[in-house]
Amino acid sequence: MKIYNSLTRRKEEFKPIEKDSVKMYACGITVYDDSHIGHARASITYDMICCYLRFLGYKVKYVRNYTDVDDKIIARANSLHMDALKYSEDRIRAAEEVFKELEVDFPDVKAKASENIDNIIEFVTKLIEKGYAYPTEKGDVYYSVRKFKEYGKLSNINTEDLLNGVRKDVEEGKQDPLDFAVWKSAKPGEISWKSPWGEGRPGWHIECSCMVLHNLGETIDIHGGGKDLIFPHHENEIAQSEALTGKPLANYWIHNGLIKINGQKMSKSLGNSLTIKQALELYNPEVIRYAIVSKSYSSDIDLGEGEFALAEKHLYYFYNTMKSINNFLAGNTGREEVENDVADKIEAKFREAMDDDFNTPVAVASLFSDFKYVNNLLKDSKITTDEKAYILEKIRNEIVRCYSVIGLFKEDINDLIYSLKKKYINKLGLNVDDINKKIEERAQAKADRNYSVADEIRSQLDSIGIIVNDSKEGTTWDIKELYSL
Ligand SMILES: [Zn+2]
Repeated sequence: MKIYNSLTRRKEEFKPIEKDSVKMYACGITVYDDSHIGHARASITYDMICCYLRFLGYKVKYVRNYTDVDDKIIARANSLHMDALKYSEDRIRAAEEVFKELEVDFPDVKAKASENIDNIIEFVTKLIEKGYAYPTEKGDVYYSVRKFKEYGKLSNINTEDLLNGVRKDVEEGKQDPLDFAVWKSAKPGEISWKSPWGEGRPGWHIECSCMVLHNLGETIDIHGGGKDLIFPHHENEIAQSEALTGKPLANYWIHNGLIKINGQKMSKSLGNSLTIKQALELYNPEVIRYAIVSKSYSSDIDLGEGEFALAEKHLYYFYNTMKSINNFLAGNTGREEVENDVADKIEAKFREAMDDDFNTPVAVASLFSDFKYVNNLLKDSKITTDEKAYILEKIRNEIVRCYSVIGLFKEDINDLIYSLKKKYINKLGLNVDDINKKIEERAQAKADRNYSVADEIRSQLDSIGIIVNDSKEGTTWDIKELYSL
């Protein structure tokens, strides 16, 4: 398996530190507001990576954090006259509710800054002892960036260029504009803890260094996070951890791309930010998941209405094909084992795509050819029914077994189809009962041999985007828009 490593800027063969197990850490959410679709993408990405590693047989320990102490959280809590930790606890609960609905598995360890204060103080103390950090009279502790010779190796930024970009009016006691806070002295009205340097709270970057060390050890296999965290957050994590241990913090750095909405950067001030809660009111959880995994995890992607509508159409096609397989199998209980190229290669093709830096778009693209094959096979009369049943059952089981790893085919088939049909019918300004009534009227007209009335109803329905299908099992109807892939 190859992974694109942001640290070396190339795809590398994945070799975990221990043969059969993987230690993975991903930076989580700063819980000062409702989680948005960008958080969903990051969670889905590391969930997908973790599930795929487990599918390959690795024992994975996956740690993710919540930043629950931070300037924004404190400001928000103060404006609501709330205790900062009580506020972040409420936001964590709200985040976990939406992640559960999205069917994102929880990590093995959910680490919180506020629960690691003693570990953080110990970490900072050791950095001071080693000469990489210094306390100020005011009670802040800063990291000496220039002491760490490899600073900039992840983000490819050099300290001289950086110096041109930072403010020169240095905070009180700070020795160099490049230095960053690992411990912040408390201001009045802020949550704080006792420390050797006075009342204060941790800086942001230190919590991740500390939680990696505490939960996973000195060097881990995979460290992940959004691309926007490469600098300064991950660069500073490396500086802190590697100064302390003298060992690499992580062997593979993975960064997920960011999200745009209708071509624009997502931001609250532009009014185009989409919270997970809002997305779940508009779309089925698997539609959200599909819209995300059908694109490469590392690219910046657009996630507007058009992308979700496309995801709905694709899933509608997949689920309807699954339903046809199930209907066929329900009516044919015999099975005759037979070799079949499509059925036999589903796992191999899935793994080939996923082994290439978790290439989910390629894995998803295979589904179109597999389902096209299924639809042709269902119509094929040259093959025996028992052989056909064997092949279809194998294809269905293999697809569900493999693709559930990336979160697909987990919904009830009839529920998903019905909910999408209902949604599109409502979009046409109609309801399902109206259509069923028209279909009954048409059946009655046909029974009365009143074919011109029957044809008239069919063309009426056709003009509003409803397709009528007659078969020996009866008449069904469908929505044209959902079929225009
Ligand atoms: Zn982090």
